[in-house]
Amino acid sequence: MVKLSKKIVEDVAVEVAGEEVLPLVRSIQKKSNISEFLIAKSIKMEINPTRNLLYKLYNANLVTYNRKKDKVKGWYVYYWTFNPQRAKFLFHDLKKRKIQKLEERLTRERKGFYYNCSNNCIRLDFERATEFEYKCPECGNILCEDDNKKRIEFIEREILNLRKEMQTN
Ligand SMILES: [Zn+2]
Repeated sequence: MVKLSKKIVEDVAVEVAGEEVLPLVRSIQKKSNISEFLIAKSIKMEINPTRNLLYKLYNANLVTYNRKKDKVKGWYVYYWTFNPQRAKFLFHDLKKRKIQKLEERLTRERKGFYYNCSNNCIRLDFERATEFEYKCPECGNILCEDDNKKRIEFIEREILNLRKEMQTN
């Protein structure tokens, strides 16, 4: 059985189905084959919106189901199980993609020159700043070269944090 931190489960679930799915995920995470009616009851939601959330998770392979025919009523009831293996995979995938984006930004920041309006209207790269003759297109102020050292440090720290999260989870 895969060991999962609360963080993995919540990050992935929110990414896939939005914040509103959190109570549902918490209610099924450590159990298996729970009837959809029981899930709806435990999160105090109507059955249809509960099913919609379950389908969103199902589309991302985060849950699996068994269905059984209710002998008395003649319809099928779905029993759901959370898939921790998949959650772990998606978590790492998500972090990897975030790191990739940040690294692209980092490269841009490191090799580019940026210009700021002193009224904080806008930030432009070198090419655009030249295009506007170093004047803010919003307010007409002269643009100043942006010292992006802090920005670069911030992105580097973000990347480090994401790497750490991947290693420890
Ligand atoms: Zn301006």
